[in-house]
Formats: sequence, structure tokens, C-alpha cells
Amino acid sequence: MTDVPLKLFNSLTRQPEEFMPVHDGEARVYTCGPTVYNYQHVGNMRAYIFADTLGRTLSWKGYKLSHVINITDVGHLTSDADAGDDKMEKAAAAQGKSAWDIARYYQEVFEADLDRLNVRKPAHPRATDYVESMIEWGKQMQDKHCYELDSGLYFDVSTVPEYGRLAGPSAQEKLEEDQSAHMRIDPVKDKRNPADFAIWRKTPAGEDRQMEWDSPWGKGAPGWHLECSVMSAELLGHPFDIHTGGIDHREIHHPNEIAQNQAHNCSEGSAANIWMHNNFLIDRRGKMSKSTGDFLVLQTLVDRGFHPLAYRMMCLQAHYRSELEFSWDGLEAALTRLKRMVMLIERIADAPSGGKIDHPKFAPALEKFAAAMSDDLNTAVSLTALEDALAMKKVDAGIKRAVIEHMDSVLGLGLFDLARTDLRIRPKDAQITDTEIEDALTSRKAARADKDFAASDAIRDDLVAKGVEVMDGDPLGWEWKLG
Ligand code: AMP
Ligand code: ZN
Repeated sequence: MTDVPLKLFNSLTRQPEEFMPVHDGEARVYTCGPTVYNYQHVGNMRAYIFADTLGRTLSWKGYKLSHVINITDVGHLTSDADAGDDKMEKAAAAQGKSAWDIARYYQEVFEADLDRLNVRKPAHPRATDYVESMIEWGKQMQDKHCYELDSGLYFDVSTVPEYGRLAGPSAQEKLEEDQSAHMRIDPVKDKRNPADFAIWRKTPAGEDRQMEWDSPWGKGAPGWHLECSVMSAELLGHPFDIHTGGIDHREIHHPNEIAQNQAHNCSEGSAANIWMHNNFLIDRRGKMSKSTGDFLVLQTLVDRGFHPLAYRMMCLQAHYRSELEFSWDGLEAALTRLKRMVMLIERIADAPSGGKIDHPKFAPALEKFAAAMSDDLNTAVSLTALEDALAMKKVDAGIKRAVIEHMDSVLGLGLFDLARTDLRIRPKDAQITDTEIEDALTSRKAARADKDFAASDAIRDDLVAKGVEVMDGDPLGWEWKLG
């Protein structure tokens, strides 16, 4: 089953390619991580659910996985194309805190959110711990590939072959338009090419920066793109297998990383064999983004009463390369699907875990699952394979449990750790406790048994007034729901 070759869509060649590891039996993956000046919104979290699903698939295929998700705690400007303010310094000024404290706080929230979404723990290096190495890279590249301006050291993109190949020709034109637009707002004077980018940004005279280091080009901070080249080289070695990120990174950040890798490694190769990009989570206004100021974080979903794994389910239902529109109805539908799975799992929960999966009855579901996951991570179809297996009747509970565990190790829903009650919709501001609701429903049942319909209706009305929907005859066996 797991010997079906794994095909992954490579943004570099714009086609699916068979995964061939650089190091026998190993898979090394680098994922661009959060800029910790603010909360990660649920769109950002889609990027990590995708990267985790990729990592789980590689582990399931038998590769020893090394996965890095870096923490950007320095260097990222409000525009990816080197213009605007420094995100960390701006947040520090706005909140009256130190940039370091802000970085630590948002990193902690991010890590807690990863846990809640069952994202397995990757390595989380912080950019500020690699500044010395970034300076070394700058020194090594500067003669052939960089030039110095008053504002810093810049990379000349014309010095590497096929700059921007990853972005593609139309994206390249757009990038140039965008860059000229940015230059109108915040000109970096005397850049040789609009796409040239900062390797080092000098602290302007008379300006105070919280995060700055000495360098051969003066006090300042590294350009944002440099950290990922340096950390992937140090932690995974160049070349490595797979580099992931959101689709916006295909246009500026990743082409710039590739340019640095080529320059530093004196090679035409891009350093990662496969570049993979998840598409956006959108809402009615378009891409969910922090700059609008109005975005959803995982905690908002939890406060509205949803289990975080309903969001993971929502992401898995779509292909990672398709846009996914967020809606509360969509989230509720994903939650209901998860509930259905958990109800069926209850029936096999007592069977011993970790048994054998090879039984002819389960072969079609397992084959469907393996084919789907191996086909560029088609989680939408693999979820239906899991449901096929769950629906099988007259089968040994132990084998069924093992099959579901096998599939869930890749999907990461943690099905055997979820109880039905975890999946009740329970908004944070609910005025009534579960026990109060259960007690009221018991009294209502007694009133109905006594044919005291006036009493039973009064109890129901009281519950409705407190936001409880009574669900008589619900096919999923849910007796009530908090609205
Ligand atoms: P940032 O913290 O802004 O650097 O973004 C972290 C990750 O989230 C990057 O891989 C982005 O490409 C990705 N990302 C940003 N917005 C979205 C979105 N709306 N949907 C999916 N991924 C996103
Ligand atoms: Zn990156």
C-alpha cells in the first residue's frame, strides 16, 4: 500500500513529481514559519496543517522526517518586497513592549495553536539565534552578488541564473509592477533592479532600534529572506528535499531564497528539490490577511464553541492547492462530519489498539487511501476512504480499529482521543452549564412520560431562552445544542 510512489506538485516545474529523497530513507522539510509580531490567523494555520499533513505522509511512507518551521522574530517588513516598516519594531512601538517580549508571546500562542490542531512538533529555530551565520552569508556573497547603498547591503538579482523562475513569467511582471508601486511609497534609492532585495538593513542615523547587531556594513538587522536560506542550510543541509510555504511566498520570498542559495552555494540549483505551496484561506472579501486588521484566530473559533479539530477537518476536506473559503456553516459541516466519525469510533474504542491491518475486506479502502495520499496529498478523497472503512459491517473490531488508526496517523484528526462531548458546540459566553442542561432534559423526559406536556414545554422554552436547542430525534444522537 505505502509502496505507491509519492507524487508531489513541484511549483518549480509546475508539475507533479515523484518524491526521491536526497538522503536514503530520510525526508527533510523546511516550512516558512510565522512572523511573531501578531497572532497567526486561521489562514496562516492552514499553511501549517498542510505542512504537517505532508510530514505525516512522509513518515507514513517510512521516511525518517526532519521538519523545521522557523520563527521569524526579526527582519520582516510590512511589504515582502523590502519596503515599509519593520513588523516587530512597529508592533513593539504600538504596544509599548519590547520587541523581544512580543516575539516570545506570539511564539507561545502559535505553538499552543499548533498543538490544538494536532500539528506534530517540528523544530522551531528563531531567526535571532542565527544572525551571526546570516552575516557570514552576507560576507560570502557580497563580492559577486551584492552592492552596498546608504540603507544597506542589497542582492543584485541579475547575478544569478533564471531569477524568479519559481514565480513564473506573469508573476514576475506583477512583481515588478508591485515593486515600482512600493518604490513610489518608500523608495530604496539607487537599487540596480526593482527586484533586488536587502541582505542587511542598516539602522538609519538617529533612529533607535531594539533589534540590531554589528556587521561589516554597520549596525542593523538582516533582510527577511536571508534567515530561511541560512536556517535551512544549517539545520537540514543543502540540498534538502522539500520547502513549503503559502502561495504568496512563490512570488517574492522563495525566489529570493533561491537566489541567495545559488549565490552562496555557487550552484545553479535552488537548494530544495521540491517547492510546495498551499493556496489561501479566503473569506468573502478575499485572502484572509493580517493587514486588514479583521481576521479570525483559532481562539475565536473556540470561543464560538467549535473544537479546533473541526478546523483541521475543514482544511483536509479541500485540496491544499485550492482556495478554501471560510464560513461558519462550512465549519459546522466539518464539525458534524467529525462527530459522525467519532460516533462510529465509539463502537470500536474497546478493541485493542495497534493490530494488523491486512484483511481483504479492508483492502479497497486502504488502496483508495494510499492512492489518494500519494497523489499530491489528496486528503479530500482519503477522508472518504476512512469513512468507507468506518462503515464496514461484520468485521473484526480490532482490525477496523487498526485500519482507522493507520489512516488517522496521516490525517491527524486524533479520532481515538476525541469524545463526543468534546465536539459539542459550546460558545464561551453560554449562560448555562452542561449539567444544568442534562438535568433539565431529564426532568423534561419525566414530564413527558407523565404526559404533563405543559411542564415539558415550559422546560423546553426555558432552555431555548438560555440558547439551548433541544434536538429530539436527532440522527446523530445529540439531544441538545448550544446556539
Ligand atoms: P506570515 O506570518 O505572514 O509570514 O505567514 C505565515 C504563513 O501563512 C506563510 O506561509 C504565508 O504564506 C501563509 N499565509 C498567509 N495568509 C494566508 C492565507 N490567507 N491562507 C493560507 N496561508 C496563508
Ligand atoms: Zn521563509
